[in-house]
Amino acid sequence: MRIGLVGIGKIARDQHLPALAVDAGFELAATASRHGRVDGVEGYNSVGEMLAARPEIEAVSLCTPPEGRFEQALVVLRAGKHLMLEKPPAATVSEIEALAKMARAAGVTLFTTWHSREAAEVDAARDWLADKRIEAVRIRWKENIRQWHPGQDWILAPGGFGVFDPGINALSIATRILPEPLIVVSARLDVPANRACPVAASIALRTGEAPADAEFDFLQTGQQTWDIEVDTDCGALRLRDGGSRLELPGVAPMRGPNAEYPRLYRHFAGLVARGESDVDLRPLQLVADAFLVAERVTVEPFEF
Ligand code: NAP
Repeated sequence: MRIGLVGIGKIARDQHLPALAVDAGFELAATASRHGRVDGVEGYNSVGEMLAARPEIEAVSLCTPPEGRFEQALVVLRAGKHLMLEKPPAATVSEIEALAKMARAAGVTLFTTWHSREAAEVDAARDWLADKRIEAVRIRWKENIRQWHPGQDWILAPGGFGVFDPGINALSIATRILPEPLIVVSARLDVPANRACPVAASIALRTGEAPADAEFDFLQTGQQTWDIEVDTDCGALRLRDGGSRLELPGVAPMRGPNAEYPRLYRHFAGLVARGESDVDLRPLQLVADAFLVAERVTVEPFEF
């Protein structure tokens, strides 16, 4: 499949380009980015320019920030191309619902990726929890914005999601592994005085009858934490390091290799081959719900 890659920034370079390079099912035909270029691949300034110049492109993968991605997605779907979206798939819930409707009408594949769901031990965690009674859930997602997102001002601007940019990864895993839906009960958002989006969030949730809570922090220095713990009637499950390490009662910890993006592209190819889409809004819906019910607290101004 001839594919165009849009938004040549950190994640495109760190993950998409290496994953495409080793997947025989894809040929990177062109890129579109205002500044970013990839050696040996024809680059255009916008997705519209790319598709006009290269009509043989069959699919497009968007790696730009969520705010503004909708317009790019419209260009792709109107051109009748298959579309893969980085997480979060859009800046709002209604944008992604509109894209799903358009993709159906155009008969093309839409794939809203959640890369953390492809972490090595997520499927095993889901399988283990499937027949357990859930008693409590604790989500701890704490990372240093200055280390992982240096200079990315968009992340704290309107539509950038703030600490929910990493936090939505935790929610994408939680909605994959828990047998019952997660529901937001209340939330507190810490928003720097000079920014639009939170640098920390505390969210109370429930799943079935069980309480759940999530602590997201973007200012964590030292030890970085990407953990989900689930208490059950058969003991506690601990899914650590972003889903790559699984601790279950009575067995040695399990840790698999990181193949998140190769798995995403393989799944995308399968969806296209079967004429299907994969659009799951639940993580985005939970973020939207947290923003709806949240108490907002103004905290210290933030500079990178
Ligand atoms: P990034 O490094 O800032 O790159 C995004 C690229 O998109 C930029 O280099 C820019 O390239 C283009 N762009 C188009 N419109 C833009 C705008 N309004 N503001 C800023 N850049 C714009 O961001 P990223 O870390 O790759 O993240 C992109 C997406 O991937 C986000 O949705 C993020 O959640 C997701 N993601 C990131 C990571 C990570 O570790 N960083 C991991 C997984 C997923 P041009 O200037 O050349 O147009």
